[in-house]
Amino acid sequence: MKKIALFSIPAHGHTNPMLPVAKELVERGNKVRFYSFNEFEQKINNTGAVFVSCDSFLPELTSEEEQKIKNISLTEMSIQDIRITLAMNDFLEKEFKEFKPDVVYTDSVCFWGKLNAWKYNVPMVVSTSTFAFNEFSSKYRKLKPAELADMIFGLPKISKELKTLEPYGYHVKNTLSLVQNDNSTDSIVYTSENFQPCSESFSDHYLFAGPSVFSKVMPLKKKDRPLVYISMGTVINERPDFYSKCIEALKALNVDVIISYGKFMDISILGTLPENVKAYPYVDQLDVLSKTDVFITHCGMNSVSESLYMAAPMVLYPQTGEQYAVARRVTEINAGTMLNDDSAEGIRNAVQEILNNNSYSEAAMKCCEDFRSCPGTKGAAEFIENAPHTSDGIDIISELHKSRGKLMLCYWLIAIAVLVAAGFLIGWSYVWIVGVAAGVLSTPIVNVIQDKQYEKLAEKKRKLKS
Ligand code: UDP
Repeated sequence: MKKIALFSIPAHGHTNPMLPVAKELVERGNKVRFYSFNEFEQKINNTGAVFVSCDSFLPELTSEEEQKIKNISLTEMSIQDIRITLAMNDFLEKEFKEFKPDVVYTDSVCFWGKLNAWKYNVPMVVSTSTFAFNEFSSKYRKLKPAELADMIFGLPKISKELKTLEPYGYHVKNTLSLVQNDNSTDSIVYTSENFQPCSESFSDHYLFAGPSVFSKVMPLKKKDRPLVYISMGTVINERPDFYSKCIEALKALNVDVIISYGKFMDISILGTLPENVKAYPYVDQLDVLSKTDVFITHCGMNSVSESLYMAAPMVLYPQTGEQYAVARRVTEINAGTMLNDDSAEGIRNAVQEILNNNSYSEAAMKCCEDFRSCPGTKGAAEFIENAPHTSDGIDIISELHKSRGKLMLCYWLIAIAVLVAAGFLIGWSYVWIVGVAAGVLSTPIVNVIQDKQYEKLAEKKRKLKS
């Protein structure tokens, strides 16, 4: 029996996957305290874990700050995370001293969970509610200019805010070290190795547990007519314009439609709904997905995982860089189609494309089977109980970093030899042109060689595993 402290931020997408794991940990006889927020109290109580309310540490936000958070500004979120960490300092000092957790299981962007695990030297397992992102899998993200600008201009602001943590014993090298997925941190990712992009680049410190869900029911798609389910998630879901277009697109089709429109919007704005459309502020998403034939989704990681777990193919409408990465992976396995034209006609065409082409539902079913063969919540609980872990397998990233320096050295030795030869052959006054060309080409050439090395190492790793 272990004492385990769980930490999450006040967001459904981050808290939901930790809940089934919390329940499993409790059932296995562990003493579990879940530090969270009042809106999740009931859900946490249902797991059997002890709910500890952290609402009183949430700062009062100005309307400008609130708007930035609503627009998923990573800078604003990080700044607020740091402020919450400071506000919780005394409280968590007392908690860590009294409860004395053996393990901390914390969301990957919950700074106070991570920072206190480091401060009190408690083994930590990170809960990654998106794909795991490192230098390889990050290539799947397509950041919008606004997201990019937010990140670039936000870094100095976050660094300044991070300095306020120093006097309290929280030592952070830089922002990246606080949020990135690195190969030495024990991490749980709620997808399969097959679905995670570049999964072979992650070390044995990673457990790809598969979707963390309560429902184990199998999908049941048999009914009178197909069901189309629409949700933009729980964060930026105030999209009456989009829901109206979906209704326009689907009202004349022989389908049933369920819309989950969120808790911020007044439904009367959509007018009288057609007979085949039902709209709710919140639904039991897994239950709906088990019967769904097409899911129009914003591509939040949880929604997409749940959809594939229930073998529901998707129309993909990503709104952020992270959601784009998830959408791209879905198209790679052919379990969905991208909504490039979000007019009513574009939506209708995309839905009909999925309904008229079995290959999408077949691909989703294949992924459903893959997900259900993952270690699941049991495997996740075991992984947490046994933390910290060691990694003796191949760590592709550190291997590549080691060889990069040698490659660069070889490249420049050859380049200098070519420069000297060029000097003798075409004259020394033109040698600078060859020098500039060698400089410009150095990174792309070394990158191509490293891509080949990556493939070789990945193949070796796959062979060792099979
Ligand atoms: N969800 C739900 N009912 C709803 C809408 C959403 O249960 O009506 C859940 C959904 O099952 C998922 C989470 O809320 O677990 C949304 O997480 P996701 O990562 O998909 O998107 P986010 O809300 O974080 O943008």
